[in-house]
Amino acid sequence: MHCPFCRHSDSRVVDSRTSDDGASIRRRRQCPQCNRRFTTVETASLSVVKRSGATEPFSREKIINGVRKACQGRPVSEDDLALLAQRVEESIRSTGSAELDAYEIGLTILGPLRDLDEVAYLRFASVYQAFSSLEDFEAAITVLRAERDSAEDHTDQELTESAESAQS
Ligand SMILES: [Zn+2]
Repeated sequence: MHCPFCRHSDSRVVDSRTSDDGASIRRRRQCPQCNRRFTTVETASLSVVKRSGATEPFSREKIINGVRKACQGRPVSEDDLALLAQRVEESIRSTGSAELDAYEIGLTILGPLRDLDEVAYLRFASVYQAFSSLEDFEAAITVLRAERDSAEDHTDQELTESAESAQS
């Protein structure tokens, strides 16, 4: 890439560092012409196509802002929100797509948000999936209950298994 100072067409990498989460690489570069140094950050390209058709880079901050309102008054911390946004980004990146529409991003938020707080999940889902009646809420709650029950059954089973292996 061009040197941002003198526009020289080449630069030399003097240091490379992978970010803590492994999602990006920072490179320290030096221009062979003016000798000044600059940093580039390399990440896999990920853009969001908005309803208007415009695209913008994926942003964890936007995910957090979108979810924060649904979490008002709930026991959800800023750390929880940051972790949720990270899970959403990881899940999106694992699909390998370079471009997603806003609707798909919303779908990806639902799972981690449900794990975080069921009330916030219902609020978010009601806006995002445009619930129009009490029946829509009832249906969503029925699904939540069914999944919670099956998760509990699973836990019981694991406990029984470990109790059995403890006896033998
Ligand atoms: Zn230069």
